[in-house]
Amino acid sequence: MGDTQGETNVASRAREISEEVDADVEEVQRRLENLLEYSVPLDEALRTVRRRYESDGPEPSQQVETRSLEELSIGDSGVSVEVKVLSAGRRSVNAGGELTVITEGVVADSSGEISYTSWEDHPLEAGASVAIENAEVREWNGEPQLNLGGGARVEATDDVEAVREPPGERSLEELEDGDRGVEVEAKVVESEERTIDGRDGETRITSGTLGDSTARLPFTDWENRAFDEGDAVRLENSYVNEYRGLPQVNMGEYTEVMVLEDDVDVGSAPPETSIAETVEKGGDFDVVVSGSVLEIKEGSGIVERCPDCGRVVKKGSCRSHGDVDSDLDMRVKAVLDDGTGALNLIAGRELTEKIYGDTLEGAREEAREAMDRQAVRETIRERSVGSRWRVRGNVSVGDYGANIDANELEVVDTDVQEEALEVLESV
Ligand SMILES: [Zn+2]
Repeated sequence: MGDTQGETNVASRAREISEEVDADVEEVQRRLENLLEYSVPLDEALRTVRRRYESDGPEPSQQVETRSLEELSIGDSGVSVEVKVLSAGRRSVNAGGELTVITEGVVADSSGEISYTSWEDHPLEAGASVAIENAEVREWNGEPQLNLGGGARVEATDDVEAVREPPGERSLEELEDGDRGVEVEAKVVESEERTIDGRDGETRITSGTLGDSTARLPFTDWENRAFDEGDAVRLENSYVNEYRGLPQVNMGEYTEVMVLEDDVDVGSAPPETSIAETVEKGGDFDVVVSGSVLEIKEGSGIVERCPDCGRVVKKGSCRSHGDVDSDLDMRVKAVLDDGTGALNLIAGRELTEKIYGDTLEGAREEAREAMDRQAVRETIRERSVGSRWRVRGNVSVGDYGANIDANELEVVDTDVQEEALEVLESV
């Protein structure tokens, strides 16, 4: 009985379709039955047959419902959207042992924006309006991302209204981890060539610091191009990822690097910032903060380091390398407060010797005489707590609070009484 009903159903649906698309009813029914024989569900079979007749008709894609970006959620598949491409960056990645060129960036419509990755070569260029069909929504860094796999289609379409326009050229301050297809002009403030173990064996790369009037950021040029320290460069299709808690500009094989004739103004010194401001931003590369020393923390003074990994070892034993013949070193871990917030400060040997007022040798001498290495930390504490430091370095914000890795440090005279007298005399 079920069978008979099923057949009747197929016959009546075939008649419906044949009338709708003006086709021979027997032919439609034969096609439907053929699909059903291959276990295609009825709904899908009806769609497929109807699409077949409609394919020379006016609106082939009317079947697919175009959705707005705000409606998408992780796990959606067969997604169709009409969007404006805000950025499009190409790079090659190792996918299952094969090098594949992918396109990444951000697309937007009037409801919002979303990042995407395309595994095929599609007409995705910043500023283009496109209709995307059959994409999936995946999770990337905890956020939804549009994934354009092998079955996705991308076609140019009429101008799409988007929440924002492609950013065009950006300042260093505006760059964030995950930015793709980035256009920026900056000055190469520092650069150094290094050899690394790359995917094709030993590779020469260049890394250093880029600067403009808004910020400084570390960069790596994975192709070791010909530009020098002091050059002003224009980058197209560069990408940004996180390195030690801060954004880093990457020049990959698809990045265009042009040396500019005009200089880019960097300012003579790195920008000064309040602690609250830099923490709020999630950190800064190469900034200056000034504050009072609240505390010299445990682990300051003379420390022993593992010769293999450089970690501080306790009782001659490294966490990774066991008992080692450790090297002596000096460091300071301090808490710096500027009234807006506080940072953990880490200073290496050179700056620690400056704060301590003597070399590692002198510190060892003091420890020997006191028969206690803590004596060195005590001396540093007496000299530092309550005084004001001006520190240049990189600020990163992580799970354990905000840190500044000090590259330069200056002890600022903070005798408040003296300052007050000077003010009085100048009146
Ligand atoms: Zn070690």
